[in-house]
Amino acid sequence: MSQQPFLPFAKPTIDEATIAAVGDVLRSGWITSGPKVQAFEAQLSEYFGGRPVRTFNSGTCTMEIALRIAGIGAGDEVITTPISWVATANVIIETGATPVFADIDPVTRNIDLAQVEAAITPRTKAIIPVYLSGLPVDMDRLYALAKKHNLRVVEDAAQALGSSWNGQRIGAFGDFASFSFQANKNITSSEGGCLVLNNAEEARLAEKYRLQGVTRSGFDGLDVDVLGGKFNMTDVAAAIGLGQFAHIEAITAHRRELAQYYFTCFGSDFEAKHGAQLPVPDFANSNWHMFQLVLPERQDGKPARPAFMEQMQERGIGIGYHYPAIHLLSMYRARGFKEGMFPVAEKVGRLIVSLPMFNVMTKNDVERAVSAVKSVLQ
Ligand SMILES: *Cc1c(COP(=O)(O)O)cnc(C)c1O
Repeated sequence: MSQQPFLPFAKPTIDEATIAAVGDVLRSGWITSGPKVQAFEAQLSEYFGGRPVRTFNSGTCTMEIALRIAGIGAGDEVITTPISWVATANVIIETGATPVFADIDPVTRNIDLAQVEAAITPRTKAIIPVYLSGLPVDMDRLYALAKKHNLRVVEDAAQALGSSWNGQRIGAFGDFASFSFQANKNITSSEGGCLVLNNAEEARLAEKYRLQGVTRSGFDGLDVDVLGGKFNMTDVAAAIGLGQFAHIEAITAHRRELAQYYFTCFGSDFEAKHGAQLPVPDFANSNWHMFQLVLPERQDGKPARPAFMEQMQERGIGIGYHYPAIHLLSMYRARGFKEGMFPVAEKVGRLIVSLPMFNVMTKNDVERAVSAVKSVLQ
């Protein structure tokens, strides 16, 4: 139908300088973890106000390692949101702990901190809040709650690089903060992640967990005193990450502008007219990793999202869905979760869609996306 090229909902952009830097790494004779990883970690640490930072080969293992450093395992409960990438809950199970869900707030679509408090038991050891589409939770309330109940926090800030809370960067304060550099995130290393830690001792433990538990000393000293895995980032990935990270401020600013323009194009009567729900119009804290709508239910009772996605695709616009509720996936149902437990998450998980949002998107792209949404919801 459309004469213009297909507009994807996300796409990475790698500049020529980064491609050249990757070529240099490949020619250097050292392609696994080395000087580029160290440089990337140093730049990230500076960005997060000097806190220690270690990189890994995914955001998923980054969170799992944070849980291990916190000593979380069998017999412990960890509270998280049902509306996230399934990785967020899977890592809890990986450590041997039990995932406990708390429903979300219908406006922010992030975990509802009142529901978190209600879900705390004597076994609760940690909370994993997720900043969906880069919008943080109320960070003051989160850390007051954690302090009151003596809980660790592993922030799943996978989508929140560049986000802030009242002028402070996400990751520059708090407990553990985990970021992802997967290809669709605001900046990428192709695959990868980083963890912001509290002190040198935690950083040493992170290094052990990412490489078989190994500690080296002298010329040939090697010991293993914890069970680690193979989670190190390569210099090839770090070179991509460094090239991307150089543009973080411009990327965040551009995404905020695009988000603002989305609101302008939708207009103030969009929600009332079409029954769809826009995101929270926060242009100070959110990095606008995604621009998400919650669709109206269909009058005929049929599922709204697949039809919407298909009709948008016919109009040349790619649509994502982030995310289906985790507790209704088969493996979680097998653990006893079922419909009706987290009604807000269930509705959002069924009806949320992600509109196009990426670093080199233009205002014309926003106009195309919005006019297609309006015509489909007509
Ligand atoms: C991307 C993402 C992850 C996982 O990160 P990977 O780098 O793909 O392992 C976890 N949680 C959220 C919210 C994400 O968006």
